[in-house]
Amino acid sequence: MVITKPDFDVAIIGGGPAGSSMACYLAKAGVNCVVFERELFPRPHVGESLVPSSTRVFKDLDFLPQMEAAKFPKKYGAVWTTDDKKTPYVHDLEGLSADCNVDIRFEERQQPGVDKNHTYHVDRGKFDLLLLQHAHKLGATVYDGIKVSEVDFGPKEPIVRFQMGSKQLGVSAKMVVDASGRNTFLGNQMKLKIQDTVFDQYAIHSWFAGYDRKVFAKRDTNLDYIYIHFLPISNTWIWQIPITDDVTSLGVVTQKKNFAKSKEDREKFFWSSVGTRPMIEETLRKADRIRPFKDEGDYSYAMKQLCGDRFLMVGDAGRFVDPIFSTGVSIALNSSRFAHKDILAALEKNDFSRESFATYENTLRLGTKNWYDFITVYYRLNVLFTYFINDTRYRLDVLKLLQGDVYDDATPPVLEKMRNMVAEVERNEKHPWHKLLGDLTANAFRPA
Ligand SMILES: Cc1cc2nc3c(=O)[nH]c(=O)nc-3n(C[C@H](O)[C@H](O)[C@H](O)COP(=O)(O)OP(=O)(O)OC[C@H]3O[C@@H](n4cnc5c(N)ncnc54)[C@H](O)[C@@H]3O)c2cc1C
Repeated sequence: MVITKPDFDVAIIGGGPAGSSMACYLAKAGVNCVVFERELFPRPHVGESLVPSSTRVFKDLDFLPQMEAAKFPKKYGAVWTTDDKKTPYVHDLEGLSADCNVDIRFEERQQPGVDKNHTYHVDRGKFDLLLLQHAHKLGATVYDGIKVSEVDFGPKEPIVRFQMGSKQLGVSAKMVVDASGRNTFLGNQMKLKIQDTVFDQYAIHSWFAGYDRKVFAKRDTNLDYIYIHFLPISNTWIWQIPITDDVTSLGVVTQKKNFAKSKEDREKFFWSSVGTRPMIEETLRKADRIRPFKDEGDYSYAMKQLCGDRFLMVGDAGRFVDPIFSTGVSIALNSSRFAHKDILAALEKNDFSRESFATYENTLRLGTKNWYDFITVYYRLNVLFTYFINDTRYRLDVLKLLQGDVYDDATPPVLEKMRNMVAEVERNEKHPWHKLLGDLTANAFRPA
């Protein structure tokens, strides 16, 4: 009898940060893996501002020297702004400040395993290409320009099917990693996806040359921070992310219903939203848009399961939470950091059952639940976030979350405290913050 070996140990669908970091981890450990990427890199992609927990992965993968050599803008911290004395938020309410302007610097808290005081903002075309090339250098096979059309989970090893020219081809692997991003390849094929009906957002964004970042920076050291500018429209904000010295990415994020209600086309909607913050509009009108506008919608969801027999999902392919805290790339990279350990053990035991990936699934669910709870509290009562950051008792605990350290604590005490305060404000109509409560409550969305 002839025993045929599968073509690869692991087949990875998608070569974004999740797929290429997974390929790097596996190739570094000597695993025979292949990445299928449907695009030819470099290609533009949303998600340009990282958080410091990404650094651990770059270190593991010996990729930090390349991050430094690429001269991506260094991100030392974050600023949140409201409408400079014009919105109802910026009053003193019976002694409780309702001002939402706040900034934080990452170096204020030492992060285990991270010895840099900054993270990066990245041009995703360049960053994703570098990381995918790194995976290739470490020994991963990369098929780019190849779109996976189906994974056939038959009685033996899965077959990954794709088209090359006019031919339908397939390769076999002991297991499949879905890293296909918001395309959620396996989630769709296996009907595992649950749409988040609460965070039902819409974003429109572009790159601008000559946007004067000094207008909002109180100090020169803040120039290359990420800026989150709140607009006086419910649940709506703008990101301001440095891409180079001269180029800045700006995007409006809102509830999809706000966009639908406006009946404007997407470009008009962008400008009318920006117009609610005159200083931003004035600064942006003087700059040149250098890319077409791009929009994104319907992007928050979870999966009924992240792993199964002979497969697991990493990055956006498994879960998407609102991007307000710039979490996506960090989740993608760290999901590979955790998942590759279970994959190596599965290869060792030759056991690819769902149970083999349980540690990964539990760890990732814990981390994304913490992000989700943090985001929920934030949207419900913005001012609480500012209040906690400005309180020395909690500032570093909040910073821990913002750094992306969310995987080691079942319920971070600071989140518990925030949730209790929200409940108190909800109960007490006379509470000075009661009228500031937002209209998003995430109780409706509690995925398994
Ligand atoms: C509005 C918005 C703002 C955001 N802002 C930030 C931010 O500031 N910071 C941050 O960290 N994150 C941000 N994100 C999230 C970030 O974009 C993602 O979390 C991140 O890109 C996830 O990486 P990934 O590798 O999982 O998926 P992706 O980066 O999407 O990569 C998936 C890859 O799979 C490929 N692919 C898909 N289907 C197939 C197929 N069938 N065959 C072969 N290849 C396939 C795609 O071409 C793609 O290259 C934002 C997201 C949105 C929507």
